[in-house]
Amino acid sequence: MDGTDVAEYEPMARIAISRAEIETARRRRWRTIRGGSGPDADVTPMHLRARVRLLVNPHEIPTIATGSCIEPKPCDICGRRMPAGCTEYEVGFSTLTVRIDAACFALWQEEMLRTAQR
Ligand SMILES: [Zn+2]
Repeated sequence: MDGTDVAEYEPMARIAISRAEIETARRRRWRTIRGGSGPDADVTPMHLRARVRLLVNPHEIPTIATGSCIEPKPCDICGRRMPAGCTEYEVGFSTLTVRIDAACFALWQEEMLRTAQR
């Protein structure tokens, strides 16, 4: 499941996502040393935030669209399946557009605000 959808991303995003995955791999190794991890270990809040940060660009204001998910698809940040009929958010930068669920959109907004306040 991990990384199989990376090929669909554009080059810049792919590089960024690879970096995030390296980080995740490091954390996984750390966890193993501490004695194992649960089945959902790769969707930790830390991991999510790292992915969200990759979508924060202080130099560009993205277009944001929201709507009802027409067919089930995975969220571009957490990978959780968004069922048909749920609210999805489309965040469009000039080089990349992502479709994410409400929870990840909230995280992303938080990170955008934090960046803007710096
Ligand atoms: Zn998500």
